[in-house]
Amino acid sequence: MGVQGSGKGTQGTILAEDLGLVQSSVGDMFRWNVQNHTKVGAQVRRIMAAGQLVDDDLVESIVHQRLDQHDWNYGFIVDGFPRNKRQAEFFLERYDIDGVIHLDLPDAEVRRRVLARRLCSRCGLDYNLIAHRPRTEDRCDVCGGELVSREDDTEEALAARLRDYHGKTNPVLEIFRRKEFVFTVDARPDKVTIQQAIRDQLGLPVYKP
Ligand SMILES: [Zn+2]
Repeated sequence: MGVQGSGKGTQGTILAEDLGLVQSSVGDMFRWNVQNHTKVGAQVRRIMAAGQLVDDDLVESIVHQRLDQHDWNYGFIVDGFPRNKRQAEFFLERYDIDGVIHLDLPDAEVRRRVLARRLCSRCGLDYNLIAHRPRTEDRCDVCGGELVSREDDTEEALAARLRDYHGKTNPVLEIFRRKEFVFTVDARPDKVTIQQAIRDQLGLPVYKP
């Protein structure tokens, strides 16, 4: 678990590839169902087309269906789920969880990272004024297009997303904390340091990038 920009996907991928785990996110599960024209996929498409949010029942059934495939030998790693208290309870009841990795990134750092994001208005390439600067200011290295911010990367939109994230995530973390499943890792350092910190906490083999 972690706020946007905390490196959830990156850390999950390293763990999955290195330890032979199956990695999936709820977003991947939805996309798979839509692309493969399943019944659930059709339902998701209808809900999105109507501009509504996918409800807990549908999210639960899609996660359940995915994890019931039992296509892993050593385990799975899920990101983007559970998002609220009810989904957390569902997850605890049905699956044997080893740990919840909580990538902790202070709001000020999220703001700094997200507000530094830029996008080429011509070719769509991503930039970040902190981590991936263009060679010429405001210009795409590849196509020379103008770099712009994403429409939803404004101070106000981000503040609303952070409020929403904490409002939903804190009760979920609380549920997992009660079961002593939560391993909190500082998400500010570089990705190798973070990966090693995760492994130290979970007693996993040393990371050799
Ligand atoms: Zn470009």
